[in-house]
Amino acid sequence: MKSQNELGVAIPANKPLVVRTIKEVTKEQREYALKKTEYNMFSFPADLIFVDFLSDSGSGTMTDLQWSALFHGDESYARNKGYYVLLEAIRDTFERGDKPKHSIDLVLSGETNIKKLMDELYITDYQGGFVNGGVSQLSRPNAFIVPQGRCAEHLLFSTIAPILKERNREEEYFIPNNGHFDTTEANINANGIIPINFFSANLLDDFPYDEMNIRNPFKGNMDVKALETLIQEKSVESIPLIYITITNNTAAGQPVSMSNIKEVNKIAKKYNIPLFFDACRFAENANFIKEFENGYKNKTIPSIVREMFSYVDGFTISFKKGMANIGGGLFFKDRGMFHQKFSVEDDIGIKLKEKQILTFGNDSYGGLSGRDIMALATSLYETIHQNSLRKRIMQVRNFAQKLAINGLPVILPAGGHAVYLNMDKFFEGTNIKTGDFGGVGFTIELLRHYGIRACELGPFAFEWDKKTPEQREGILNLVRFAIPRNLYGNEHIDYAVAAITELYYNRDKIPKVKISRGAKLRLRHFQTGLQPIYIK
Ligand SMILES: *Cc1c(COP(=O)(O)O)cnc(C)c1O
Repeated sequence: MKSQNELGVAIPANKPLVVRTIKEVTKEQREYALKKTEYNMFSFPADLIFVDFLSDSGSGTMTDLQWSALFHGDESYARNKGYYVLLEAIRDTFERGDKPKHSIDLVLSGETNIKKLMDELYITDYQGGFVNGGVSQLSRPNAFIVPQGRCAEHLLFSTIAPILKERNREEEYFIPNNGHFDTTEANINANGIIPINFFSANLLDDFPYDEMNIRNPFKGNMDVKALETLIQEKSVESIPLIYITITNNTAAGQPVSMSNIKEVNKIAKKYNIPLFFDACRFAENANFIKEFENGYKNKTIPSIVREMFSYVDGFTISFKKGMANIGGGLFFKDRGMFHQKFSVEDDIGIKLKEKQILTFGNDSYGGLSGRDIMALATSLYETIHQNSLRKRIMQVRNFAQKLAINGLPVILPAGGHAVYLNMDKFFEGTNIKTGDFGGVGFTIELLRHYGIRACELGPFAFEWDKKTPEQREGILNLVRFAIPRNLYGNEHIDYAVAAITELYYNRDKIPKVKISRGAKLRLRHFQTGLQPIYIK
């Protein structure tokens, strides 16, 4: 008889204790609201939607432990107790593998032994890792809490850009990635640095849907040959950082293998270039490594996470991706390569901290409430539970499989947080061309007819019309259905599959879309006005 792990389905990992009623909105009401909100998905009132796949960012369900942790939140201006708990949780998660200290229990249990509290939480000196402690965090800051991922990106790139300019005014600088997320790309661009994507060559290869539980080709990997060619063609000096995004959100949420991380690490070391993670979905990525990469089956998720992070010099992260409703951070290794390269006159950490205080507040809350900090620290321990990771990943996989069975051009295998449709294939044989923003037309129609919200991540979001023919090559034409953690069940997925399939059968009726306002804006998909062109 098969064991519980061998059944090929997720073991139930949790159950809802609170539910929210979805409003009974009609198609005509949605049409009215769409018109009044310029047909932009980001402007449409969420309360009028049946199923919202726009983003898994901050939109997940909190656990009972997170809700109860809120009560332990401490809103003191300086050095609230959650700050210490969160720093410990980050050390536990990214450095300690199977040997976490779990100092959060001291706070949750109301520990009254003052000496213990000081020795284990409040007055501790750590150094040499991603999170200095005590006096070392004051003299060499390397851990920066911020409200979300893009704030960490802004902090990092806006602080290093002037240092780079000072070094060489004439030089062009490049930051390669296996797939820059839109905010990462925009923050790099906004600081005069050029972002480059090195997607894995097999990304759009076909994959049989019935083999998703058996193997995985790690299509999120970085093209390491292209990376090394860039370094040799430009110069080592022109590449201030190399980035790996885990999982690769822009490349259809695909995972990155440990061996790819190691290869990139080797190249980074060879040329003395700091290597960073965009670490938003590190736990999902670790689960893929455990499930599908040779040699990891018997390792625990925490030990895999520890190994992954041992190969990088630092990371930016959005904690909103399935962990908490708000939170982000920037962390780098104490006296590591990044620290050495960028601490020219002043310590780079001191510069970053000054900017953090200028923009987000005191370092111990970084724009977050004390309650949010406690909920976030709690979730770092829950996110790595294997059954809950499996539940999440299997739900995404089931969604993709059902669409594939119905003939939809879904990117396979499914990644860890979202299902992606290949819109070039979707519109094959119709009169919709790349510059018509058919993916946007699809999202408008899906919302109009069926009350389901999805997100175009293609020519519209990645600004096809503003780019050179060469840059256009790097744009994938996708629509993403992101699944918030612990929010939806089978009925939501089944409703979406039926609606998407119906729309696919009627794809010749999907309108082209024009940008009616704000085509030139940066990160325009959040803010432009749109106009579908319906042919009567
Ligand atoms: C969401 C996301 C970000 C940005 O984080 P925010 O919290 O939305 O600012 C960066 N990188 C990746 C891969 C993401 O998914």
